[in-house]
Amino acid sequence: IPVMIHRNGQDEHGYYNVSYRALYYDSKITGVLGIAIDVTAQVIARQALEESEEKLKVAIATGRMGTWSIELDTMQITMSDFVKDLLGIPADEPATMARIMQAINLEYHTDINNALKDAADNHQASDIEYAIRNLQTNEQKWVRATGRVFPGLYGKSAQFTGMFIDITEQKKDEQRKNDFIGMVSHELKTPLTSLKAYLQVLEIKAQKNDDTFVMNALVKSNNQVNKMTTMINGFLNVSRLESGKIHISIQRFDMAGLVKEVEDESIATIASHKVIFSPVDELFVNADRDKIGQVINNLISNAVKYSPQGSTIHVACQVADKRARVCVKDEGMGISAKDIDKLFDRYYRVNNNTNISGFGIGLYLSAEIINRHKGKIWANSEIGKGSTFCFSIPFN
Ligand code: ADP
Repeated sequence: IPVMIHRNGQDEHGYYNVSYRALYYDSKITGVLGIAIDVTAQVIARQALEESEEKLKVAIATGRMGTWSIELDTMQITMSDFVKDLLGIPADEPATMARIMQAINLEYHTDINNALKDAADNHQASDIEYAIRNLQTNEQKWVRATGRVFPGLYGKSAQFTGMFIDITEQKKDEQRKNDFIGMVSHELKTPLTSLKAYLQVLEIKAQKNDDTFVMNALVKSNNQVNKMTTMINGFLNVSRLESGKIHISIQRFDMAGLVKEVEDESIATIASHKVIFSPVDELFVNADRDKIGQVINNLISNAVKYSPQGSTIHVACQVADKRARVCVKDEGMGISAKDIDKLFDRYYRVNNNTNISGFGIGLYLSAEIINRHKGKIWANSEIGKGSTFCFSIPFN
């Protein structure tokens, strides 16, 4: 009970737990024992906790988020009204796994079941994005669900619990941006192709007229057009990839042959660096030959871009861990530990290379291609010493 006590000339507000007990003597009540315990600190702490819980609830609701929780023993599910509303489960109906799965697009069921299994078996956290269809309105939405396992204390079941975030608007924005990039790069390709054709015609003319100055200018123009074509193709590929239009066409081929082709091309096009290819033994894989070639070329052109003229670049392809592994090593500027994991993110570029042109999509595309081959791509680097970029793909 709240109590106000006048003490030391001042009013003090406090909270007390008060209990009374009869005192007996020979079965007769002879008095009353009153005990008052000052619990002000506990009550204030509880009030602060309630207040912060309330604030958290408001913050969660305004951020278009909700909370969910699954008891891992019984698979009993509780979720906030926001989550139910998003899925289209009436507030007074229980949320069962079957009902939830009904709302989730079929193609994400395996991912979700795997996340649940990982949580139950290994107490692993998860973070998944997926599409849902509201069970009442049939409206399609995008959500992100994050989850963590809290071990059950005092004999209680462990709980898999987390947030549920409506990311539909964000996804729509991404889609619009993506469509725009796709459209712009597609439109830019046509004039660029004719520009290239005209340059070729001019080159033949200049050659005939023995005009060295014009010849030099045309070679430089051609290089610039090629650079621009690579960039535009990169954007087109990103937009195709995001809309699921990049297809991997698997064929059986010898990596040694592919690396030889890349080597020949490098000899013809790279004069600024010494590119050394280690000998490659016959190494057959089942993969998309063009796309794997694209990844190797991308790693080599990055090594050229981010290392000083005249330095050496090593390219090696060998068997490691029962996989085909390709590594490209340079003696360039290197990458700091804080950047290294983010390099493969879309549009990510390290801050200190603003004078080197690029959009940060080459490594993103490479990583997507390698992931689609169930492979791995990674980088090791030391600032000022150089970097090694490697990928590995299974033989089958
Ligand atoms: P871009 O080169 O167009 O910026 P990428 O996706 O190919 O895009 O590379 C992303 C970023 O990774 C680059 O901006 C650069 O900062 C860093 N990077 C890539 N390769 C190397 C390398 N060999 N040495 C140092 N930094 C590199």
